[in-house]
Amino acid sequence: MKRSRLLTRLWEFQNKYGYIPDVAISEIAQKLRVSKIEIEGVVSFYHFFHRQPTGKYIIYLSSSIISEFKGLNEIKTAFEKETGCTFGVYNQHPLFSLFETSCIGLSDQEPAALINFYPFTNLTPKKVASIIQDLKNGIQVDSIANKPASKIQFIPSEEKTVFFRDYHLGNSLENLKYLDANEVLDIISDAELTGRGGAFFPTAQKWMYGKNATSELKYIICNADEGEPGTFKDKALIQNLPGLIIEGMIISAYISGAQKGFIYLRAEYSYLLAKLKATLVKFQKHNLLGKNILKIPNFNFDIEIQLGAGAYVCGAETALIESLEGKRGEPRIRNSFPTERGFNNHATIVNNVETFAMAARIIELGSEYISKIGTKNSKGTKLLSVAGDIAKPGIYEIEWGTTVEELLNRCEANAPYFVQISGPSGECINATEFNRKFCQEDLACGGSVMIFNRSRSILQILENFIQFFKNESCGNCTPCRAGNQILFEKIQKIKRGICTTDDLKDVQKWAQIMKLTSRCGLGQFSGKTFSMAIDKFDDYFNLKVTTCSDNCNVEFDIEQAISDYEQVVKNTQL
Ligand code: SF4
Repeated sequence: MKRSRLLTRLWEFQNKYGYIPDVAISEIAQKLRVSKIEIEGVVSFYHFFHRQPTGKYIIYLSSSIISEFKGLNEIKTAFEKETGCTFGVYNQHPLFSLFETSCIGLSDQEPAALINFYPFTNLTPKKVASIIQDLKNGIQVDSIANKPASKIQFIPSEEKTVFFRDYHLGNSLENLKYLDANEVLDIISDAELTGRGGAFFPTAQKWMYGKNATSELKYIICNADEGEPGTFKDKALIQNLPGLIIEGMIISAYISGAQKGFIYLRAEYSYLLAKLKATLVKFQKHNLLGKNILKIPNFNFDIEIQLGAGAYVCGAETALIESLEGKRGEPRIRNSFPTERGFNNHATIVNNVETFAMAARIIELGSEYISKIGTKNSKGTKLLSVAGDIAKPGIYEIEWGTTVEELLNRCEANAPYFVQISGPSGECINATEFNRKFCQEDLACGGSVMIFNRSRSILQILENFIQFFKNESCGNCTPCRAGNQILFEKIQKIKRGICTTDDLKDVQKWAQIMKLTSRCGLGQFSGKTFSMAIDKFDDYFNLKVTTCSDNCNVEFDIEQAISDYEQVVKNTQL
């Protein structure tokens, strides 16, 4: 057994038994000739692998901030009432186990849950009662699941769309018959395509590094692990245009000479697996994958799908590679790029779903088409996942340069007050900034836009975000591990009414320390929104700061201390 098969093998056990039993750990350790502790270490890293038996139906309820505002607590109570189980507790019912989980890519249809990884959306207590009753009656879970099609809309007009045009199998690939690798790379370069995952690294440059690498084997990885809370646009591409993504990977392979590709699909999107697999088979049948693709001699490339297992940090490319190698998905210390030493130390090009899809459209439509759309430094369009206090949540394809105001109008935002761009690790903006533009020179949005009105508590938003980072930190570096805990404690101080201006300054110092000293993006950006919010919503925070002199010591909370003492006395008496 190859080490890179580890996640797949663990999934086989998880699906068969509902958990990973001891016997599985022993068997795998023996086959891989590693210690059982090492396998335990991998299992414990991923949220969706369980070491204790679960019920026949595992229910993962999304705890995103959108879900919180749309009635998460009510739905949680309904699940507990109907199943008789408690969230996070094992062995309570042979049929059910309940867990909360981070955003599941359904922010436009919250509250939402996955039951055995089938989606259930727009939940109400009544709907929960009906679902649980159906499952108790033996109705198949897949027959009652929702089909979570995200609405797709265009700004400013359909004529300028790139993604949601007609798709015909192999359209972009036809051009490979007449162009050599350098010519194809030139088109990508002329279109000034940049990575759409949020880093906006020039794609042609990355692919050129891959092309020039002297590695014996080369790989292409499609990062389909979009886990940034509030993001669901890659899911829409996988649902609607899986062929376009695969064509982008094939183009990248043509340029770089890679012979093998992987699509690393987040487990939360398991319900898209069948469609993705069927699309790969279609490509193979049409000689668009496999040997001598398009009858071009020695153009050999095939793609495998790897299912993730629930770890936000695996969205970071080196963590994803580690995961693909069958390890804990911990980001690597950066001493080389994946294009030099990636999967199994071979040259590897990693791009996200949207980047590959855009590359395919560029080869199909030509770089001139893309260059005419957008701004001076941001060419083409961008997909945004838009959710929150709006009448029309969904996917919007915008031309780079579209203002926040235009987007807010199109999605019919209800008195927007706090807009979060690019998820919790992005930036928040207030009403004075709604004239800002989505583009790499201004608001370089990776894909998530969450809109909140004045009725929403900024503190609740920040608490949800920091809790998310605390849960998802791999814990490897101290600034991230400790920093997120400290930020969380600052929020608790604000909630308890004992926060001083010094605490707010501390938050900003910590955000800076984390940015400068954390190994990966999770730690580097997890304090960003909190720190920005203090400046941008200073009226709000001024009201939260204690009126006590800044020099007074309010760290000691007398009421809390007394209540702790009373609890001790009570316990002693018992
Ligand atoms: Fe892990 Fe956080 Fe360090 Fe990233 S920054 S490697 S998530 S501890």
